[in-house]
Amino acid sequence: MKDRFDVLILGGGASGLAAAVEAARRGSRVGVLEKLDRVGKKILATGNGRCNLLNLHACGADYNDPAFAQTVLDRFGVQSDLDFFHSLGLLTAADDAGRVYPRSYAASSVLDVLRLECTRLGVTLLCGQAAASLAKTADGFLVNDTYTARALIVACGGKAASVHGTDGSGYALLRAFGHTITPLRPALVQIRTKPDLVRALKGLRVHAALRLTADGVEHSAQGEILFTEYGLSGIAVMDVSRYAAEGATARLDLLPEMTAEALTDFLRAIRDRDGSRPLEQFLTGVVHSRIGQAVLRDTLHEKLSVPCIALSDQQLRTVAHALKALSFPVLGTKGYADAQVTAGGAATREFTSSLESRLQSGLFAAGEILDVDAKCGGYNLTFAWSSGRLAGCGAADYAAKYKG
Ligand SMILES: Cc1cc2nc3c(=O)[nH]c(=O)nc-3n(C[C@H](O)[C@H](O)[C@H](O)COP(=O)(O)OP(=O)(O)OC[C@H]3O[C@@H](n4cnc5c(N)ncnc54)[C@H](O)[C@@H]3O)c2cc1C
Repeated sequence: MKDRFDVLILGGGASGLAAAVEAARRGSRVGVLEKLDRVGKKILATGNGRCNLLNLHACGADYNDPAFAQTVLDRFGVQSDLDFFHSLGLLTAADDAGRVYPRSYAASSVLDVLRLECTRLGVTLLCGQAAASLAKTADGFLVNDTYTARALIVACGGKAASVHGTDGSGYALLRAFGHTITPLRPALVQIRTKPDLVRALKGLRVHAALRLTADGVEHSAQGEILFTEYGLSGIAVMDVSRYAAEGATARLDLLPEMTAEALTDFLRAIRDRDGSRPLEQFLTGVVHSRIGQAVLRDTLHEKLSVPCIALSDQQLRTVAHALKALSFPVLGTKGYADAQVTAGGAATREFTSSLESRLQSGLFAAGEILDVDAKCGGYNLTFAWSSGRLAGCGAADYAAKYKG
């Protein structure tokens, strides 16, 4: 005897659990098939364990596919997602950038309220079982030759951070029904650069503007940047990382609030006032001393023990420009293992506005498996909840229509 469900959800992550709650609230008999031994393990790792679950300002324009993301957010927008979590008993708090966290600042609160609601609604969690085979039957779908369902939601995530269960196996499930998977690449990931300069700066954090030039196109972001053994990290770096490949160049403007001219004037004033100051100390008070020394060494090739009065006006301009365009040749990224998100995925044009497949009725997809992703700040989880809830409603309605 096969286990029968109205709605079976493949993947018990953010979008899968949100889908399960909505489908069950609509009266469906719901099952969630999860590859790992517990559902929602990735949720626990999000936001450094605090789970930045939403962004109050999220709108279509924040995503790689603005029109499609907006269609989803028009149905279940951020306020609706907030209400959803409040209905689960979760208190939330938002910061000045609109990033929403559980008020407990513990990601486990988010997962726990979802699991409690699944239990209350009688959702069957089938853990430790990967969805490996799907077949269409006369009245629905057969999964792993064991479970039948009238409607299926593929919510297996992407292939970033496979330690949390996302190994990319969901793509094959959708491909089997003819779906197109657009080219995949790691996103929200650290960038590897030529090691010489970053190693000297290892461990330092700066607030800077970042310009990444790849294939002649410039991508920019601003915020905290961390120098590491292998390259660059931090939110601004992660936000442009999808474009990082060998041959690209990352340039940091360490003082974006000043023009090069204003900075040159400032440096000239230091030189003219305190000409005996050794070059080594020339940028003390402008940037971190280790950065200052590295920039001076890199640009002037002078002995750092000479007094700064030796600097010509032209050299002052060169230093100012170097501080505004510290250059790092890119070697690539840290790859899927360290990435937070996968860019690319199931082609959105092949899904309706209720996230049902245009190629196979009764088949739905939600979350990161779709070709939808965004920058850091709660936008990716916003899409996971919103798309999961939308697919959950659509699948429940589909199952109800074809029942009996
Ligand atoms: C370290 C880290 C921190 C992050 N922090 C944030 C943050 O603070 N804010 C934010 O907005 N986003 C964050 N993200 C991104 C966010 O977690 C994801 O975009 C989001 O979880 C995607 O939801 P999903 O439901 O599509 O997939 P997931 O949450 O990845 O869930 C997919 C589930 O499917 C399961 N699965 C996979 N294949 C199969 C299969 N064949 N059969 C059965 N089950 C399967 C997996 O085990 C997993 O449980 C972070 C990501 C990482 C890795």
